[in-house]
Amino acid sequence: AAKENGKHTYIVYSTDLEQSGMKKIVLEGELRKAIEREEFVMHYQPQVDASGKPIGLEALIRWNHPLHGFISPAEFIPLAEETGLIIPLGNWVIEHVCGQLQQWQPQNIHVSLNLSTKQLQDPELPRTVQKALQTCGIPPALLELEITESAIMRNVTESMAILEQLKQLGVQLSIDDFGVSYSSLNYLKQFPIDKIKIDRAFIREIHTDRKDYEIVSTIIHLAHNLNLQVLAEGVEVQEQYHTLQRMDCNEYQGYYFSKPLPPEELDAFLSARTPI
Ligand code: C2E
Ligand code: MG
Ligand code: MG
Ligand code: MG
Repeated sequence: AAKENGKHTYIVYSTDLEQSGMKKIVLEGELRKAIEREEFVMHYQPQVDASGKPIGLEALIRWNHPLHGFISPAEFIPLAEETGLIIPLGNWVIEHVCGQLQQWQPQNIHVSLNLSTKQLQDPELPRTVQKALQTCGIPPALLELEITESAIMRNVTESMAILEQLKQLGVQLSIDDFGVSYSSLNYLKQFPIDKIKIDRAFIREIHTDRKDYEIVSTIIHLAHNLNLQVLAEGVEVQEQYHTLQRMDCNEYQGYYFSKPLPPEELDAFLSARTPI
């Protein structure tokens, strides 16, 4: 069992189950129960500025399965999305993250969370976010919502309306995994976006591959010309960090700085921040 391998070990479901085609049905039933039983936890990955100073955290969900241990979101988010379970699960994330933000209020820390395609089509979303912020007494600017390009492009009119309402609440909006899907640059000027997060696919070889270097450098210039902040995802080595610093990238996230951690392990990160 995963428990024996340590508490941050991930498991995947057995290959038998995977290959039998039963996986989805079994997993869907388990996911349903898990939502009722609240078997989920959030881990938080630090984000730093160009000087290495901690500036924020990204909330990333994990399923703490009673038998299988921690299950990665890549394993269940797509199914949650397909079955519509992402709405109750996503609402749990919003409420849970706001609760955590409330506990961290004294540090004035900024936290981002991920929204899925279906959530971005849920007309209740702005109200859910507003209620969670109000209940916990969180200044809206401390909450950032991450949306992928493909989620926006799925239904441009609907997502535009919802993003406008979210923006009016005062939360920050960012484009996650920038560059890997549509890149219809058109939405960059039409949608009320504050930040783009460059996908780690472009960062991986940025220090060795001329083309990746040029692509990222161009994205950063474009973003700055449009008054957007830029965060680089998946920074794993110092050379990548230094290359990005020279490009004037605003924010950095990746294993080079820290893996996602459970909230109780973030004390050092939080105390390294200068209180405002
Ligand atoms: P994402 O939002 O792009 O999150 C970044 C992912 O990259 C995380 O994987 C993180 O652990 C991983 N990562 C961070 N730094 C590095 C690095 O230096 N190298 C490498 N190789 N990976 C790094 P994770 O936590 O497994 O999440 C995977 C995806 O699942 C997320 O991608 C996001 O799309 C989705 N997800 C996670 N939590 C939630 C959630 O609460 N709601 C929704 N709708 N989706 C979520
Ligand atoms: Mg994200
Ligand atoms: Mg991403
Ligand atoms: Mg992703």
